[in-house]
Amino acid sequence: TQREQELLAQVPTGLLIDGSWRDASTGKTFDIEDPATGKILKTIADASPADGMAALDAAAAAQESWARTAPRERGEILRRAFDLVTARAEDFALLMTMEMGKPLAEARGEVTYGAEFLRWFSEEAVRATGRYSTSPDGKTRILVNKKPVGPCLLITPWNFPLAMATRKIAPAIAAGCTMVLKPANLTPLTSSLFAAVLEEAGLPKGVLNVVHTSDAKGVTGPLIDDSRLRKLSFTGSTPVGRNLLAAAAKNVLRTSMELGGNAPFVVFEDADVDAAVSGAMLAKLRNMGEACTAANRFIVHESVAAEFAEKFAAKMKTLETIRGTEETSTLGPLIDEKSRSKVHELVTSALNDGATCLVGGAPVEGPGYFYQATVLTDVAPGSRILQEEIFGPVAPVITFASEDEAVRLANDTEYGLVAYVFTRDLNRGLRIGERLDVGMLGLNAGVVSNAAAPFGGVKQSGLGREGGSEGIEEYLYTQYVGIADP
Ligand code: ADP
Repeated sequence: TQREQELLAQVPTGLLIDGSWRDASTGKTFDIEDPATGKILKTIADASPADGMAALDAAAAAQESWARTAPRERGEILRRAFDLVTARAEDFALLMTMEMGKPLAEARGEVTYGAEFLRWFSEEAVRATGRYSTSPDGKTRILVNKKPVGPCLLITPWNFPLAMATRKIAPAIAAGCTMVLKPANLTPLTSSLFAAVLEEAGLPKGVLNVVHTSDAKGVTGPLIDDSRLRKLSFTGSTPVGRNLLAAAAKNVLRTSMELGGNAPFVVFEDADVDAAVSGAMLAKLRNMGEACTAANRFIVHESVAAEFAEKFAAKMKTLETIRGTEETSTLGPLIDEKSRSKVHELVTSALNDGATCLVGGAPVEGPGYFYQATVLTDVAPGSRILQEEIFGPVAPVITFASEDEAVRLANDTEYGLVAYVFTRDLNRGLRIGERLDVGMLGLNAGVVSNAAAPFGGVKQSGLGREGGSEGIEEYLYTQYVGIADP
């Protein structure tokens, strides 16, 4: 549509380096596709390793004066950015829907969520305090202060193009760190529009540099090896995170890693089944299931499993699978054909292992990478679909008989990001929470993400926390000054 074309025309096509938007030094470009149609939306600059290094040069040069900038001033930039993103909420929502596929209603939800990191960290910027105390023997004074860790490399995924950027950029700005952002090459447009908004909000040149590239490893590798870089924050898959952690060991970088998940969604016999089904729709279908927090395994007490699965399947049938720009859309396309084939492969292998398909089970014919909302029951223990992150609108249901069995099944994964538990018994909910090896727990809730809460996992789901009062700590280090008895 004309509105889409006008919006795309406002998105910078270049790399943001030291306050100016530039073409790649090689002149290379790459195309951004609409996953609902397969059509090319825009062509943008494709950074070379030299461009990446120029971005780090700019970040390193800006670090000292940025660290000395008053916390209030940094906070006010974030607050203005919050106001600007909020004023342009419809633009950001439409752009995300176009490049990523999620329905507009969800994209609007992401704008609210993503913008909130800007507001939250505008408030945290002025609260990074230290302390002054007397040593136990009374002979020295202990002065403790927080300092920015220094230039950061931020690598973001394609599934939440705005929120994954603001969740890292906002605390870095609040703490006084400069940055090189490497957005996902499938969804770079939102990051570029957001970077332009930060410039408008008054962010000084060099503080945020944005490099788009089709060669993530080739461009980020030399930065990770460069002693001027002090921090790596990554959100993406566990295999890539593992490699980045190994690379970060060379210069002993601070790291934050938000990796994969395999969230259990546990429904007890005393749960409100309708509320559990509503929670399941959110936990499974938010972002078409393309979220590290997506419920991956539905572990339901045998006495309510049939009712739960039938009601869940009935709701799945009502979804409208259509390009997200249509206001009636409730299920957008998956990000690309590779993702869709992987989802279908997991479904096919579960069916081969003996699962029953209550609804869905196949790709949607026609343009784009749509996949039917799917519920599988009688999924065999050990099926691949219970072990791997599905990243699609597919819900495998398995049953349990006792609380101990539910805990054992839920913990039976190398991941530990989030779990969802539905029960009317609060004591049971808390008891189960204490026994689950996860960084986050949704108790009678299908969504946990909140800018004011610490987001993150344990086990192979990652290291560190984003959001909450913990989020800024990832970008600060503690310095202590020992003072002789004055
Ligand atoms: P996803 O499943 O979300 O695509 P990835 O881990 O493949 O997860 O990608 C997340 C981000 O990491 C993207 O920005 C991608 O370009 C980047 N990335 C992928 N491989 C590497 C790598 N070897 N080094 C640095 N960044 C990478």
